[in-house]
Amino acid sequence: MFDALADRLESAWKKLRGQDKITPANIQDALREVRRALLEADVNLQVVKDFIAGVEAKAQGAEVISGVRPDQQFIKIVYDELVEVMGDTNVPLAQAEVAPTVVLMAGLQGTGKTTATAKLALHLKKIDRNCLLVATDVYRPAAIDQLVTLGKQIQVPVFEMGSDADPVEIARRGVEQGKAEGVDTVIIDTAGRLQIDRDMMGELARIKEAVQPQETLLVVDAMTGQEAANLTRTFHEEIGITGAILTKLDGDSRGGAALSVRQISGQPIKFVGVGEKVEALQPFYPERMASRILGMGDVLTLVEKAQEEIDLADAEQMQEKILSAKFDFTDFLKQLRLLKNMGSLGGIIKMIPGMNKLNADQLKQGETQLKRCEAMIKSMTAQERKDPDILASSPSRRRRIASGSGYKESDVAKLVSDFQKMRGLMQQMGQGGFPGMPGMFGG
Ligand code: GDP
Repeated sequence: MFDALADRLESAWKKLRGQDKITPANIQDALREVRRALLEADVNLQVVKDFIAGVEAKAQGAEVISGVRPDQQFIKIVYDELVEVMGDTNVPLAQAEVAPTVVLMAGLQGTGKTTATAKLALHLKKIDRNCLLVATDVYRPAAIDQLVTLGKQIQVPVFEMGSDADPVEIARRGVEQGKAEGVDTVIIDTAGRLQIDRDMMGELARIKEAVQPQETLLVVDAMTGQEAANLTRTFHEEIGITGAILTKLDGDSRGGAALSVRQISGQPIKFVGVGEKVEALQPFYPERMASRILGMGDVLTLVEKAQEEIDLADAEQMQEKILSAKFDFTDFLKQLRLLKNMGSLGGIIKMIPGMNKLNADQLKQGETQLKRCEAMIKSMTAQERKDPDILASSPSRRRRIASGSGYKESDVAKLVSDFQKMRGLMQQMGQGGFPGMPGMFGG
C-alpha cells in the first residue's frame, strides 16, 4: 500500500543523497517532494501544511552531523514527525473503573462500523474481556441481522429490540442488560448515513448522553482520503470522539486518513481494520504506520542505523569538545540527561567493575547531586551556559539562578567552580598531560 507515496518520497531522499549537508535551500527541494507526495496520497491540505512546517522546523534546527548522510538524517526527521503526528504510541481501549465499559461506535454507513463492532468484541474476548453487542440501527433491519449473525459467529451475545424501538432506549436498555449480566464491555453499534446528517448527529449525541460511554470511537474508512479530515472534524465537534478505528487498510493505496484523524481531533487511532474477516483487526502502532507511509519495508532498520550513526557522531563531537575545553553547561546538561536516561545511577555504577561497593547513602547523594545540577543549569540563560566564566565573576547572576532553581547562591558558586576545575582538568588531558601524572597520555 501507499506505493505512489513511497515513490515520491524515494525521489525526495535521492535529491538529498548527493549533498554533503542539510541547508535551507536543499531542504526546500526535499520538502516540496514530501508535500507533493502527501497531497497525492490525499492527505488533507491543512494537515500537510502543519506536517511540513514541523519537518522544516526540525530539519533546519538540526545540527548537521558529520558522518551521517543528509538524506538519512532527513528520513529520520520525516519519520519522527510522522510518528509524532500520529500520536507516538499505541493507546489502548479505555476501561471503566466499574464495569461495564461502554464503547459507542460512530461513523458513516459502509465504513465498516458493524464489522468493526464484532472485530473489537472478538479482540477483547481474546484478552478475556467478555462483551455484549447492542444493535441500534433501526433504520436498516439488515444492519441488525448483520450484527446478530456476526455475534453468533464469534459467540458474543447481541442485544436488540427490533426495528420499531427508539435507538436511545435500545442503547440504555442494552447497557442495563450488560450491567445485570456482569459483562465487562458493552459495544453499541449505531446507525450511519451515507453523508453527514443532522438527524444522525442528533441521535448519536442523545445516545451518548444517555449511556455516558468511556469510548466514542469514530470508524473511518481509510479510502476516504481528503474527506477523512472533514469527517473527523464534524464528528469531533458535534459529539466528541475519544479515538478512531481506521478500516480497510488492506486495500488502500493512499494513506491520507491515517495522518489526518489524529492531527484534526487530537484523539488517537486505536485500531486498524485490515480485512473483511472478524479476525482482521490490529492495534494501531504509529511507528508501523509511519514505516508503511514511508513505504519502505526496511525503513525502521534504516532509521535505527541513522540513529546509531547520529549517536556515534554526537559522541565524537562531544569528545572533541571535552578535549578542546569547549565543553559548556549545555553539553554538561546533555550528559546528565544521558545518565538519567540510562537508568538510576546505582544501576550504572554496578556495571562498572570495582565500583559496586558504594553504599546506598553515597548513591542517593550522587543522584540528589545530579538533580541539583540539572535544576541550577536549567535556570541559567543560554549565554551563561555557554560561558560559565561570566558566572564566576557575577554574584547577581548567581543569585538569580539560585532563586530560580530553589538553591542557595553558594550552591551555584560551588557548581561553577567545580565545573571550571573539571574543565581545566579536561583541557590538560586534551593537551596530552594529566595533573600529577605527566606523560600518561603520551605528552
Ligand atoms: P457499516 O455500514 O459501517 O456498518 O459497514 P459494514 O460493517 O457493513 O462494512 C461495509 C463493507 O466493508 C462490508 O462489505 C465489509 O465486509 C467491508 N469491510 C469492513 N471492514 C473492512 C476492512 O478492514 N477491510 C476490507 N477489505 N473490507 C472491510
